[in-house]
Amino acid sequence: MGVGNDLRSQFLEIQGMVVKSEDGRELRSFRFKDEDESQEVRAVERRILLETLANQLPTDSIQFSSKLAKIERIETGETLLELEDGTRLSGKIVIGCDGIRSPVAKWMGFSEPRYVGHCAFRGLGFFPERMPYEPKVNYIYGRGLRAGYVPVSPTKVYWFICFNSPSPGPKITDPSVLKKQARELVRNWPSELLNIIDLTPDDTIIRTPLVDRWLWPAISPPASSGGVVLVGDAWHPMTPNLGQGACCALEDAVVLAKKLSDALRLGPESVEGALRLYGSERWPRIFPLTIRANLVGSLLQWDNPVVCSVRNNVIVPKLVRLGPLLEHTNFEFEPL
Ligand SMILES: Cc1cc2nc3c(=O)[nH]c(=O)nc-3n(C[C@H](O)[C@H](O)[C@H](O)COP(=O)(O)OP(=O)(O)OC[C@H]3O[C@@H](n4cnc5c(N)ncnc54)[C@H](O)[C@@H]3O)c2cc1C
Repeated sequence: MGVGNDLRSQFLEIQGMVVKSEDGRELRSFRFKDEDESQEVRAVERRILLETLANQLPTDSIQFSSKLAKIERIETGETLLELEDGTRLSGKIVIGCDGIRSPVAKWMGFSEPRYVGHCAFRGLGFFPERMPYEPKVNYIYGRGLRAGYVPVSPTKVYWFICFNSPSPGPKITDPSVLKKQARELVRNWPSELLNIIDLTPDDTIIRTPLVDRWLWPAISPPASSGGVVLVGDAWHPMTPNLGQGACCALEDAVVLAKKLSDALRLGPESVEGALRLYGSERWPRIFPLTIRANLVGSLLQWDNPVVCSVRNNVIVPKLVRLGPLLEHTNFEFEPL
């Protein structure tokens, strides 16, 4: 509750959504409250979200720069974690929330996430005085290429560009090269997007190959085993097309916390069952979202001119309804 109020007070409420074509023509606009009065959409800069969550914890409870090098089960039944600096930690419960390339997931037998055929540039435009945009999510659709931007604070605007690429391509570490490449992709697109990119400090730009992993029942390993459990991208990497990856990681954390606190009240022997319950309760939420995010991405990345024309002139302006688009953001959980 404290976290929710902290975040709510700090961030701009996003009021609506505008969809444009690459020539700047408005295809559709929505106000979230028109669709559902209870909808509250807020854009949160990752750094602020992490700081807000960390601030809820007792000081010194997070140890940074602790890279996991090795994980193994030991005779006591506990799990031993060996860090790159040689530190060894053993735990009765290990929560693997180590992201898309999770060494914990690999150790548990999960396959590598699969590249879906498109990559994304992301950045944070910085307007030292005040950013001039309305608090709306803006999408711009091209052919095999799309972009978006949304204000995340009075001075910062998050943007992304998603482009088709047969392979993830080489890792580029020079941020000025990334900025040039991003700008080149959308050089004739609406000027506000180019302006935001121009005002983006180089070091906030990253390029990410988009990947996911479909957790097929009876094929994928379970989310937990022997006191080790996965949360977030480590368990269910999904493409960002529904903007739900981090949201689902937070949901996982809340559900897992509830299951564990109930189990610890009953005694340590209940822990394994609680972890299993967490996995079975979360799976029906995250598996369909992973698939849906993938399909939405494939549709939006179409480069066929006829399909794109139908999308821009018929589907987006006349057929799309905001309600079903937002329905996946609703999630009810038991209070902690
Ligand atoms: C282009 C793009 C746009 C996105 N937009 C949205 C959006 O609008 N909304 C949304 O909800 N989600 C979005 N996401 C998804 C979101 O970023 C992820 O789902 C979210 O960050 C997952 O959180 P996580 O904590 O599971 O993993 P991460 O945020 O990846 O955190 C993993 C942590 O584990 C650490 N780690 C990794 N390896 C090791 C190791 N060996 N030892 C120790 N620590 C390790 C990392 O340093 C990191 O701190 C987007 C993703 C992309 C690529």
